[in-house]
Amino acid sequence: MENRIRKYLAHNGMVSVMVMDGTKMVSEARNTHNLSNVVTAALGRTLIMTSIMSCKLKEKGNRITVQIKGDGPIGSMVTCGDGNLKIKGYASTPNVELPLNSIGKLDVAKAVGKGYLNVIKDIGLKEPYIGYSNLVSSEIAEDFAYYFVTSEQTPCAVALGVNIAKDNKVDMAAGYIIEPLPDCSDEVITIIESINTNIFSVTGLMSDLADMDDVAKTISGDNHIELLEEVYPQYECDCSLERIDKTIIALGKEEAFKIADENQGFVEINCNFCNKTYQYNKEMIGKLFQK
Ligand SMILES: [Zn+2]
Repeated sequence: MENRIRKYLAHNGMVSVMVMDGTKMVSEARNTHNLSNVVTAALGRTLIMTSIMSCKLKEKGNRITVQIKGDGPIGSMVTCGDGNLKIKGYASTPNVELPLNSIGKLDVAKAVGKGYLNVIKDIGLKEPYIGYSNLVSSEIAEDFAYYFVTSEQTPCAVALGVNIAKDNKVDMAAGYIIEPLPDCSDEVITIIESINTNIFSVTGLMSDLADMDDVAKTISGDNHIELLEEVYPQYECDCSLERIDKTIIALGKEEAFKIADENQGFVEINCNFCNKTYQYNKEMIGKLFQK
């Protein structure tokens, strides 16, 4: 099944709803980085939210970067998405193992720890937009909800979930965001709030209900939702030799050759996002600095 996000309007256009199935994306992230279960859940939830946020970018060249940095054993997580809905991400410590928490779930909060969430949006302006908020629960969904209220002044309901099966495969990874639009009535806000305090498992909803439309109806409390669009985010790294060239050039000629001398004649640059290794011999390095 492809990754997909469905965007809806509910309550006669007063509320925006987005629902994502990102099972494939989170499986790919797990395989690429050899993630442990708890890191799959933590990074997976962040990748799903980054995908949803990328849907709001207006131009293909726009880009969003999310960094979650806590004092837990994961260290930091970085995810990026662009206007083409290409999403990528990594965790600085991919193999964290922790006992399940007191309710028998993967202990994402402990793995992430206390810290902050940072969002950088490059939407083609002179300076990128930078938003920042502290982590409130370190379970990721609540942290994003808090970020939206405090940093972007958009109160919303957020749920994110990653289910891992007994055979350690990603069984389901999903998320949603419900955002009251500026002319939303207090009555509708109350309806949404009361529903969303009771629903705590988005993966459960996705498994139980027949399709995403039913999920959107349940979480918004409106049976007459209007489907606006369906889009297909991809887990894909956009690194290239050209981009890595810049990293070598930034080292400076002397330093680049020094590293090559110490490393059997090669400089190797590893892309954090996809683990691809780019290898430069001295001839290639020489050419870079001739330009
Ligand atoms: Zn890459």
